[in-house]
Amino acid sequence: MVRTPAFQADSRGSTPRGAIFNLKIMFLSAHLLAGMSIGKATGNPYIAAPAGFISHYIIDALPHFEGSSFRKVGDKEEGFKNWVEWLLVILDLLFVIFILFYFKIWQHPTLLVGGFFAMLPDLIDHVPFWNKFFRKTKLFKWLHDKVHAEIHWTTYGKWIPVGILIDVIFIGVCFWYLIR
Ligand SMILES: [Zn+2]
Repeated sequence: MVRTPAFQADSRGSTPRGAIFNLKIMFLSAHLLAGMSIGKATGNPYIAAPAGFISHYIIDALPHFEGSSFRKVGDKEEGFKNWVEWLLVILDLLFVIFILFYFKIWQHPTLLVGGFFAMLPDLIDHVPFWNKFFRKTKLFKWLHDKVHAEIHWTTYGKWIPVGILIDVIFIGVCFWYLIR
């Protein structure tokens, strides 16, 4: 399996005009479940916060399927390309809402802290209302350009089923750990 450099982040770190998100974005629900699992494992919000944050980049670096898996080599990174990407993001967000209610996360502050910090890099880098603001600071520009955008391992073409399998296993294991 080859890491394809097809969708490297815009080296200027800016979101192209008209773009809604500059994807690549692993499922937010996977990050949330991972952060909650860290919260459960550590039982300590002060550990869960940084560990959750770091987990984001580790999970992005796993070979995974995501909306941009269907893009072609050479496509520019900008906004949503097609309805599949929209559909996946909507399903993902619905799953996030389901998880929050299913686990009644407001009753479990440590899971909440872990989950929030695990999603934070995407919330900072991919929400159009403030990502440009964050990108203006040295730290967040570096985090986006040199870490977040570089680390992703999205699967394409014949490797898409492998990416889906890894997504499903990862989400399943976290879910199982949280309910057991
Ligand atoms: Zn990410």
